[in-house]
Amino acid sequence: MEASRQDPTAWICATCGTQHAPAAEPPAGCAICLDERQYVGAGGQRWTTLADLRERLRAEIRQEEPGLTGIGSTPSFAIGQRPLLARCPGGNVLWDCMALLDDEIEAAVRGRGGIDAIAISHPHYYSTMVEWARAFDAPIHLHAADRRWVMRPDPAVRFWDGERLDLLEGATLLRLGGHFAGGTVMHWAAGAEGRGALLSGDIVQVVADRSWVSFMRSYPNLIPLPVATVEEMVAKLEPWDFDRIYGAWFDRAVMDDAKAAVIRSAERYCRAIAEGFGE
Ligand SMILES: [Zn+2]
Ligand SMILES: [Zn+2]
Repeated sequence: MEASRQDPTAWICATCGTQHAPAAEPPAGCAICLDERQYVGAGGQRWTTLADLRERLRAEIRQEEPGLTGIGSTPSFAIGQRPLLARCPGGNVLWDCMALLDDEIEAAVRGRGGIDAIAISHPHYYSTMVEWARAFDAPIHLHAADRRWVMRPDPAVRFWDGERLDLLEGATLLRLGGHFAGGTVMHWAAGAEGRGALLSGDIVQVVADRSWVSFMRSYPNLIPLPVATVEEMVAKLEPWDFDRIYGAWFDRAVMDDAKAAVIRSAERYCRAIAEGFGE
């Protein structure tokens, strides 16, 4: 077969890190960034490619705790999240995703047993999920409520409905909503030495004070969520035991007593929205 003069490229948005379906020319815009929860950079829409990222970025691999590996890059790229590889009795889960995937990351993941399932909290972290799925021959589990935000459709993507998915033994996906309609967290039973951990992405956001969390429709644009939504999110976590929360970035974790942190943070948030603090 004769190769076309210009092979299609799966362009990556430089602001949010989302890879789009292959095309000869970059898309006219990035729907993820045009949404009010994100933003187009002050310099306008910019695009890059995975080949370019492999030249500019280096992998950063950190052991977060036994059975949990953080995978980031230096410098960080786009939103800067670091996915987590979580070891469970039923297999390895890649929780969330990022744009860079290079030889060092592939070797680190394979050295830990590869990936049995990919699960992503919300569309801001879909990134190059299709590249990861192909490299590790793993299905991608996304909540169906966020289906319209998939910019690179692929047979590896499997949509799930409802409030809970038993992904594999030791890993449960919970739809909390909030930031996105399909906003998902993962309960990792083996986390925190067996006391349970929540891998929360942006859905339950670990904030600067590491014993608190927050909840927003948009973090960069500071758009809050209604009281009823936050109360509903916390009610969905009530049946679950977890002592630790790993947020979206390196060093964003509530290391102890995390369930109580969620409850008191939600109370503070709802009070701030509803009545304020009187000073
Ligand atoms: Zn974008
Ligand atoms: Zn987000």
